[in-house]
Amino acid sequence: MDRKRKFENTKQKVEIKKNKNVLVTKRKRNVSLLSSKNVLNTTKLLKHEIGGYYNVNSKTFVKTANTEIGKNGRMFVRLPTGEHSILWHTHPKGQGFWPSREDIYQSLNNPYRVFMIVTPLGMWLYDAQQNMHFTRTQIFNIDHAWKLLNKQLMKLTQKERWTIHEIDPIIDSFTESLKQNGFFIQFYTFIPTEISKNNYIQLMNTKIKNRLIQISKMF
Ligand SMILES: [Zn+2]
Repeated sequence: MDRKRKFENTKQKVEIKKNKNVLVTKRKRNVSLLSSKNVLNTTKLLKHEIGGYYNVNSKTFVKTANTEIGKNGRMFVRLPTGEHSILWHTHPKGQGFWPSREDIYQSLNNPYRVFMIVTPLGMWLYDAQQNMHFTRTQIFNIDHAWKLLNKQLMKLTQKERWTIHEIDPIIDSFTESLKQNGFFIQFYTFIPTEISKNNYIQLMNTKIKNRLIQISKMF
């Protein structure tokens, strides 16, 4: 190796090292802890999605990701890949409050994880029930149910006025259909607000805990 090349190589290495450091510090700085209330508020204040993992014991949302724009031009968040069992992301106001097709497929591909979507209208909890072997028919039925949900809710939410009571039957038939095909999904709406927001958050945490207990008993 001649001297010049050696120098170039060293320079490159230093640059890579520098970049790595930048990435690490950037990543560290991006991680933040949010309470349920704060996460809920971001769905109203921010126009983009955020996401991360959830700590049941401390009831904190650990934010690890911001929005990225995919090749198809749509927003997405890169959720953590570590040993986290509950992953969450938000769907802000102005975006559909229901799971995207990618959200459902991501869960099908990660059957040992529980997913959560926080939206201004309520919270989704879903998981593929540790099922590694969905049949073609099940996948087809799940996909078909999602397409129907998407079509119906898009149409409804584009109307000038709509109420939570109109979405109830649409969501019920979607979640029922998915459950029949081995996929657990539930929507917990914030409305009616007979309970205060703080109690609601407590209730949600209990629901998540119960779901984790149910799953652990499954096999
Ligand atoms: Zn989503």
